[in-house]
Amino acid sequence: MVSRFAPSPTGRMHLGNVFCALLSWLSAKSKGGAWRLRIEDLDPDRSRRDFALQLMDDLQWLGLPWDGEVVWQSQRSDIYEHYLNQLQDAGLTYPCYCTRADIMATQAPHETDGRIVYAGTCRGKTLDEMGKNTPHATRLMVPDEIITFCDGHYGVQEVNLTKHCGDYILRRKDGAWAYQLAVVVDDALMGITEVVRGRDLLLSTPQQLHLFRTLGLQEPTYIHHPLLINENGQRLCKRDKSLDLSVLREKHKTPDEIVGFLAFWAGILPSPTPMKPQDLLPLFKWENVPTDDITACI
Ligand code: GLU
Ligand code: ZN
Repeated sequence: MVSRFAPSPTGRMHLGNVFCALLSWLSAKSKGGAWRLRIEDLDPDRSRRDFALQLMDDLQWLGLPWDGEVVWQSQRSDIYEHYLNQLQDAGLTYPCYCTRADIMATQAPHETDGRIVYAGTCRGKTLDEMGKNTPHATRLMVPDEIITFCDGHYGVQEVNLTKHCGDYILRRKDGAWAYQLAVVVDDALMGITEVVRGRDLLLSTPQQLHLFRTLGLQEPTYIHHPLLINENGQRLCKRDKSLDLSVLREKHKTPDEIVGFLAFWAGILPSPTPMKPQDLLPLFKWENVPTDDITACI
């Protein structure tokens, strides 16, 4: 049993990130599994090494040690290239020359949640006809069929990728690797058997499963957890500074106090009593974790 925590080092961790770390750590360790750390620093504009180092310090401070070497996605370009070539050789990809405006103009209607469904405008285009040097993204052709999986916390999910997202990006126009490709390759090569993460990524799971299945890689089981939300009902983000670990640490909150609140929200403790992650292990049960999002107030 191998699990992982895969943060993007684009800012200081907020309570929502720590909630994810704690739940995946508890889920892994309560089953005697390993818990790996992977730094998802693919976006060159937003990722920073100092945020990654700070994040590691925060995990140690919280009492959430990881197993083995840290994996840095920014160092794995050759590996992603190998798998992209495999998809390219199988004729499953194509270059996309669309601008953001092009995509918005052809966007399929009825999308109310902000997701963009790519209409397949560039399907059939080849590198030769457009010239290899014209900047382009690389997209994966998705089949018009239903992908089914059973999430460990939210149950059976059925998604047709054609309607859900359309042909999705594997490599961006600026050359950066897309999250969807890197996450699948890394989860497979790191031998991850269980993925625990926020339910905002529940919708990415069918895209990832499709890639596991197309590449013939061993897929993990998925357990998504509810999100922490602020008083306005929005999920916590980097802007919610008051729930950021830098502010909480400056306010002299102890790691045990923070862990106590998170454990209370996760249905592990009846009240927010200071605790060490280690001492929560015998109490942790997925059945007690709520499915509705949780208002975080500390
Ligand atoms: N790096 C992603 C994030 O910080 C998480 C990826 C994952 O857990 O699959 O949101
Ligand atoms: Zn296109």
